Amino acid sequence: MGIHFWRHKRSFAGLALVLGFIVFTGVGYASDPYQFNCYVVGWSHLQQISPSVYVDPTMQPRERIRFLRDIRLARRRVGQFFGALKDAPIIVAGPLNTVYRVYGSAAGTTGITHLTMVKDYTVLGPNGVNVDVISHELTHGELKVRLGWNNFGKVPVWFDEGMTMYNDERPTYSEAAYQKLTDHGRTAPRLSAIASRIGFYDAATDQRISDERVYINFIVAKHEFTRWYKIVGRRGVNQLMTVVRAGKNFTQAYKEIEDGAAYATTDERP
Ligand SMILES: [Zn+2]
Repeated sequence: MGIHFWRHKRSFAGLALVLGFIVFTGVGYASDPYQFNCYVVGWSHLQQISPSVYVDPTMQPRERIRFLRDIRLARRRVGQFFGALKDAPIIVAGPLNTVYRVYGSAAGTTGITHLTMVKDYTVLGPNGVNVDVISHELTHGELKVRLGWNNFGKVPVWFDEGMTMYNDERPTYSEAAYQKLTDHGRTAPRLSAIASRIGFYDAATDQRISDERVYINFIVAKHEFTRWYKIVGRRGVNQLMTVVRAGKNFTQAYKEIEDGAAYATTDERP
């Protein structure tokens, strides 16, 4: 099965199909070169080390083995969180930032996931080849699959990043960091201010101020999701996905599930 997939991926007919799809959907190199490069990664100089993983040829054998192990551990962590894995992204990585600059983004060194209509692509920079960042990126894809492509914009960015940070245990984003950097929540931004992409990621024009604010947005998102999740558990997460997919307003559903779960028996909590 794996070999068949491999051959198909590299055939010219397959390439024509991919290019045809890109032209058909209007998603071209000019609009998003990173996504485009991901679509054709099977024909690039990167090496395929498992059916869904591509790495830069300079990645050492020992690093490759550790990387595949980290992916397995991340899949287990995220699978335990959701109960099962539904998304199957292509993962692209390299030991240097060169791969990230071609497939990921013009900025950053950690990780990004391109969520597309047909396939998701996780791209990891030199700071992203570890269980925490892989878990983080896999969670983005799982959330998208559960909500459905059309509904992804119906959840606020803080919820998306809060959930992914829950599966990302890097100590710089810990509860202790939240308490310290927001003066126990007193200086934390309001959730409504970090609901949109602009509000969450583009906090200031000055890069240094922006980086600091975006970092705080992440720890605030993690703090809030963790607080909510301790009350509602996986059951609450699934309920929320279901009702938002059915068209219910996120903010209302988020609160109702929390209020309802507060009366649930303790054995239904995480
Ligand atoms: Zn993220």
